[in-house]
Formats: sequence, structure tokens, C-alpha cells
Amino acid sequence: MLTPNMHYSELKDSYLFNTIYRKTSEYQAAHPEEKIYRMGVGDVSRPLCEAVIQALHEAVDDQATMTHFHGYMPESGAPELRKAISEYYRRFCVSVAADEVFVSSGACDDLGDILELFHRDNTVLVIEPAYPEYVDTNILCGRKVIHLDSGEENGFLPLPSEEIQADIIYICSPNNPTGAAYDREKLRKWVDYANRNGAVILYDAAYEIFIEDPAIPHSIFEIPGAETCAIEICSLSKTAGFTGTRLGYTVVPKALERMGMNLNTMWARNRETRTNGISYILQKGAAAVFTPAGLAQIQKNIQVYKENARVLMTAFDRSGIWYCGGRNSPYIWLKCPEGMGGWEFFDHLLNQIQVVGIPGEGFGACGKGYFRFSAFGDPEDTKEAANRLCKLLGR
Ligand code: PLP
Repeated sequence: MLTPNMHYSELKDSYLFNTIYRKTSEYQAAHPEEKIYRMGVGDVSRPLCEAVIQALHEAVDDQATMTHFHGYMPESGAPELRKAISEYYRRFCVSVAADEVFVSSGACDDLGDILELFHRDNTVLVIEPAYPEYVDTNILCGRKVIHLDSGEENGFLPLPSEEIQADIIYICSPNNPTGAAYDREKLRKWVDYANRNGAVILYDAAYEIFIEDPAIPHSIFEIPGAETCAIEICSLSKTAGFTGTRLGYTVVPKALERMGMNLNTMWARNRETRTNGISYILQKGAAAVFTPAGLAQIQKNIQVYKENARVLMTAFDRSGIWYCGGRNSPYIWLKCPEGMGGWEFFDHLLNQIQVVGIPGEGFGACGKGYFRFSAFGDPEDTKEAANRLCKLLGR
């Protein structure tokens, strides 16, 4: 008889989002006249920029002609797009070759697929609170996961210690959910740790575009030595509003080797086996992001989200609420007032001012008592939510 992957039974169910959905729907049914302000959502609200839309249209038209039609695309990505992404890295003074860039259908896909490079007996370190996929994908392969808690005492940016014994280390900076971001000096400690111990860092840079502080690196490859210990996973989801369009990229340096195996060569081989490439149309749209016009246009949307974050931060400053994030990140991570737990605060906000965020518990046990707000919402809704928060929490 077939044996299913029994590790599925070890996954926690999607309690968090199901419960948020249920509580919000119940409230709305009981109060149909009230508008609910959804300030928790990690999805973008602004449309794709003009340069991308134009490139997508042109690519669709290409597919209608004998001369410009494209069939299967190269598994690791269209050469022009890989080159455009490698050139994008120059703005961070980082040298990434086009064949170190692998185009994907999103960071979520690659965060799971990349684990095929590693043996199951490796130990994984997840810094919590964390994006839930890091834990779940490893549970599914039966890998041992150890957790490193972060908290206010280290600004939600813990550093390595020699007691930690991990082979695969997830670092998300700027972080989802805390919005905290490692500066060069702190990130260097992780890079040195990984090189000393033969570990590999999976660096999730999905929110790179929000960085404005010059002390914070946009890429882990800004840190000397990262090319021998890190893989960087990136996404156009938040950068260019591609959450529904789907495209990301992963950088696997050619200098990254373990036990005589080259991880860049392995990943290229993996792509040949596991994918038939990303749609021609989407890659054309993605390439438009990296043109001068595209890069200028995506910034307009980012500035809208940044203004939303500023509006929310002002409300929390006025209310004397502790928070981090918001400056180099679209997320604001705050401490629930008066010792409330995340769910208690959730109910309080929903019932009193119809504002919805995400209880920190959903991102790991050490998130208890904290709450995540997102700056991806509509600007007018964000202003109204901030006014309501100020009135409710203001002292
Ligand atoms: N990594 C982090 C930290 C995220 O927050 C998200 C999405 O919210 C992703 C990866 C997934 O990105 P994508 O939409 O490219 O799959």
C-alpha cells in the first residue's frame, strides 16, 4: 500500500488566517453598515506600472505572429532578463554574473524548491518571528528545524553564537513580519558564522526595495565572503506589484561549494529537471521593470506605500506604542498595549474601530503580544485607520 508523506500531519493548520477571516466575516455579518479597514494584508494594492503593462501587451502580440512567437523558454530564464537583473546588482556595487541569476515564478516557489539542493539530515535554523513557509517546507521534508527567538532586547535582529549548530540558516531582511533589517556589520556576523561552520544562508530579500538607510545592505552579496555561503531569493511581488503576475529570481553564486559540489551547477541542473521555464510574456513584463522607465515608475508605488507606513508610524508615535519596522519595510511590528495578547488586541481593534491587523502569534511563539500592520493598503483607508487608532490608543 502507498505510504503518503506523513510529515503533512505535522504541519499546523492555517489557523491564523482562517481565524482572522472567520472573525472578520462574523463581525461584518453582524454589522453590515460598518466598513472594515484591513491593515494586515501583505498583498499590494497598486496596479502594475505603465512600462510593464506596455511590455506585457507587446509580448502578447508577439505570441500572435509567426516571426515573434516563442515556445518553451530556457529553464533558468531568458538571457536578456538574467542580464538585466545582473546589471541591477551594480547599483549595490555587487558583481553578479547573468548565469548566477535564475528566474523563478516567485520567491515562494524557490524558497521551497531550493531545499532540493540539501540533504535531509541537515539542521535548519529559523529566526522567529518568521514568514511561515521557512518552517513548513522543511517539516515536509522531515528536516530538523531549530528556532532562534528574537525580541525587543535585540531589536528583533539576533546574532549568531557558536552554540548554534545549523547547516541551513534563513535570514529575511527587511523582515516579514517585524520590519527589522540587518545593517552591514550585523549581517557580516552571520556571513562569518556561515563560512566558519560550512553552513548556507538562504537570504530572503523580498522587501529590498523598501530600504532607504544607507547602513542597510540591499543584497547579502554586499558583505565580503557572502558568495561562498549565501543564496539570495528575490521577488518582484512587492517591488513591482507582481503578486498576481508572478515572477521572482534567485542568485546562486558560482563560488558556492560544499563537499566538492557546486551549488550553482546543481541549481542549473535542478531547473532543467523541475521546470520548463517561466512564460515568455511574464519575462518580457519583468524585463521592463529593470529599464530606466520601469525603475522610476515602480518607485512611485513604493512611495505610496512608504507614505502609508509613515501615517501609521505617526499614529503609534502619538499613542506611545512601541514598534519597529516601517522605515525600511512595509511592515510595522508593534507591542500590543496594556499587556494584551495578539488575539485580545485583534478583537479590541475589530470591535472598537473596525481595524484589522495580524496577531504576532501567527509568526512563531515569540511573536505573542505583538501585532503586524501592513502599509500595502489604500492611502485613504490607511489615513482613516490611523485616525481611529490614534483616538482609541491615544493617551
Ligand atoms: N518571502 C517573504 C518574506 C514574503 O513575505 C513573501 C510574500 O509575502 C514571499 C517571500 C513570497 O513572495 P512571492 O510572491 O514572490 O512568492
